[in-house]
Formats: sequence, C-alpha cells, structure tokens
Amino acid sequence: MSQVILPPILPPALYVVAMPIGHRGDLAPRAIEVLSRVDIILAEDTRVSRQILKAVGILTRMISFNSYSEVGKTEKVIESLEKGQSFALISDAGTPAISDPGSFVIKRVIEYGYSVIPVPGPCALTAALSVSGFPAAPSHFFGFLPTRSSARDQELTTALACAGTLIIYEAPHRIVDLAKRLDAKAAGRNVLFARELTKTHEQLIRITAGQCEKWFIDNPDRIRGEFVVVLGPSKIQPSSCELETEKLLAMLARELPPSKAAALTSEITGIPKKKLYRQLTGKSEV
Ligand code: SAM
Repeated sequence: MSQVILPPILPPALYVVAMPIGHRGDLAPRAIEVLSRVDIILAEDTRVSRQILKAVGILTRMISFNSYSEVGKTEKVIESLEKGQSFALISDAGTPAISDPGSFVIKRVIEYGYSVIPVPGPCALTAALSVSGFPAAPSHFFGFLPTRSSARDQELTTALACAGTLIIYEAPHRIVDLAKRLDAKAAGRNVLFARELTKTHEQLIRITAGQCEKWFIDNPDRIRGEFVVVLGPSKIQPSSCELETEKLLAMLARELPPSKAAALTSEITGIPKKKLYRQLTGKSEV
C-alpha cells in the first residue's frame, strides 16, 4: 500500500516520526514510507526500534541518538545534511521531543535552514487527552514533574493554579507519590489515570482526587505500567490572593523546611500555620 506521496529523491531534511506507544499497528503508513526512504534513522535506542522496524521490513541504517549523545552528534547530522543526506528522528515510543530527546537537534536543523518535517502519529499526551472527556483548550502539559520532593511540590502547585485541563507523565515507581499529592492538593478535582494506552492491559481510571492513593494501595498490581495523569479543570478557580499565597509558600519551601515555610507564610498572610503546613506536606501535624 503506497498512497504516501514523497518526492522520488528525498531532500536533505529531518523527518520527526512518531512511533507506536504500545500497539504496533499504530505505526502509520507514511511513517513506514519515510523510515524506509531516509538515509539514516536517529533512534533513541536502536535495539528497541530495530525490533519494530524489522517487523515491517525496514532495514535503513540506524544511529543511536539519545539524551546523552544528542548534543555531541548534532553537528555530524548538520554536516551530513550539508552533503544532501536525509534523516528520520524516532524515540522508543511516541513522538520525539515530547518528554523525549530531539528538541536540540530540531532547533539546530532549523537554525541551519533545513526542513524539519513532522510525520505525526501516536503520542501518550494526545491519546490520554482525547479520551479524557475534559476540555482540550485550555490545557497545560507538564511532562514529568521533578523528582525532588520540594521541587515536585512547587511544580504541582504551579500546575494546579493553571486554569484548564492538566496533563502529567508519571513513571510507575512515582505514581503513588503523585496520587498522594493530588489527594492532598487537588481534592475534588476529576482525574483520569490513563494506564498502558493501546496495550493489552489498557485501563482508563476515572476518579476524584481525594481517592487516588487508596485506589493504588488497594491493589498493588495497579501500580504497574505506564501512566498519563489528566486532571479536569478546577471547579473553583482560586482567587489571585490564594494564588499569591501558594506562590509565596512554594518559594519559601524551596529554601526552608516545611514548618518554617508555613510559619513565615502564616506571619505574612495571616492564614493559620497548620493549614499552610497541610497544604505543603499533606500532613496535619506540624
Ligand atoms: N514521546 C512519548 C510520547 O509521545 O508520548 C513520551 C515519552 S516519555 C519518556 C514516557 C512517558 O510517556 C511514560 O512515563 C508515560 O507517562 C507516557 N506513556 C508512554 N507510553 C504510554 C502508554 N502506552 N500508556 C500510558 N502512558 C504512556
């Protein structure tokens, strides 16, 4: 099947090609055509991609291109574009540069005046958002939250203050931590845990924040797999005063232990220290 219209000789360009996020049938015909025709595929992990590409008969030369090697290898890509070669960029799953390597090489290729051509397809972000039932606009994508507790808390506070739908990526070993933080900071908000999208154990868990941690703790099997977390818009938009308090609290918490940050914020705003401490840590005891 070839309804894909590509020029007989590919121009020097970087094609950014989406790969399946689970179901191999989601590899698009145009992606197959482009990946068969380019001179070189830049792959996040050549072993992972080789398996998928071999299954559809693609034997194009592949170079490993990941977050460690991206900067170093980019100048070589530019030199090869200058010699007329064409490239495809792929990641292990989904769309390159979406919480994956790629933005550096893409930016450099643009700066050198070569074309960057999207070959769109699977992306966990759009797949989860599309089935969430929450408004897609406005929506805010936060990718992975930081791993350090205070930075994580601060980013989540920033995210929750945004008007609209929120989308977060999370690794299985941190999903319970995120669930716990959502219970503490976003209680009452509608949440979708989109688990193992397009795979055998795909599951869409529609739940209310306040019950998230329990859902995971009740059955540890639920912790397995990949997750996109989508939060529906807040029913109550915080007042600008509340937002300022949250910002102040988060800023102080970056530099100070939670109890000191809560005490100082309480002194400045007049809000009870206990309430601020609970807001910051999810715990009621200071
Ligand atoms: N570039 C990818 C994309 O287009 O979605 C994302 C790569 S990022 C390194 C991996 C994260 O994406 C996972 O931790 C998870 O949050 C999300 N993800 C990827 N595949 C998924 C799937 N099949 N089901 C649910 N989430 C998935």
